[in-house]
Amino acid sequence: MVVVNLIREIKDFVKKAKAENKTVGFVPTMGALHKGHISLIEKSTQNNDITISSVFVNPTQFNDANDLKNYSRNFEKDSLQLKDAGCDVLFYPSVEEMYPEEDHRKFDFNGIDNQMEGEHRPGHFNGVAQVVSKLFLAIPATNAYFGLKDFQQLAIVRHLVKQLGLPINIVACDIIREPNGLAMSSRNERLTTDQRDNASIIYSTLTKVLDKKNKLSIDDLKDFVVRSINKSDSFEVEYFEIVNSNTLLPVINKKDEEEVVACIAVWADKVRLIDNIVFNF
Ligand code: AMP
Repeated sequence: MVVVNLIREIKDFVKKAKAENKTVGFVPTMGALHKGHISLIEKSTQNNDITISSVFVNPTQFNDANDLKNYSRNFEKDSLQLKDAGCDVLFYPSVEEMYPEEDHRKFDFNGIDNQMEGEHRPGHFNGVAQVVSKLFLAIPATNAYFGLKDFQQLAIVRHLVKQLGLPINIVACDIIREPNGLAMSSRNERLTTDQRDNASIIYSTLTKVLDKKNKLSIDDLKDFVVRSINKSDSFEVEYFEIVNSNTLLPVINKKDEEEVVACIAVWADKVRLIDNIVFNF
């Protein structure tokens, strides 16, 4: 595996690969890699001639300075995992390389950037759009792989690609979970053993509420989730919403919606966890 730090070099690399008619798969990450990330790499290596992954903790998508400071960073461990998974190139730029000057671009995603994550993390999706647009210009891949774990981010990336008219195919990948159901996340490293064990309540509650979807009203479904999780001293629901998968707007009338997803954010002390489940009525 080759490590590349400069945009100019990665651009040249992709240009050459494409000139040789090779397909390029791209997996953007912020590092602190786990099996969820690796599943994306594996999907890319299966379906492309060349796989590139990036490790870059993007400062502009953090609305909380402490979260940015505490974000786990381990280049050696990440690069070993990427190499073992068959990644060909690791793009590992510095902040100065990605942001040689302040990025003042403001993106407009028709309101989907103001729902749920967008509402609770102001500026987050604008930062995501800033970095993903820069990464996609540097790495104009054939296919780019994103996890359904970050369902709302995936929706934003799809809009971004459309808005910018980029010929990159976005591939959605399943959520990889711990044996107890907790969605894998770099932030799980910051949970205590007890919190990690007990965090199984998030996914188990999502599967329970899915069972009740045709029996209860939307308000009662939401109430069930919030009460079930908040009962535990260690967790507090920030939001639970049942939304249209494309607009991310709350479902009002169950029958009118085609594709529906239920999204949740939960605080475990100072660690914020997100998850979601397909919820078609
Ligand atoms: P991150 O490093 O958190 O920015 O994540 C990089 C990519 O990995 C994103 O597309 C995430 O959605 C994806 N990802 C993170 N956790 C998981 C998981 N548990 N299962 C599948 N994909 C994931």
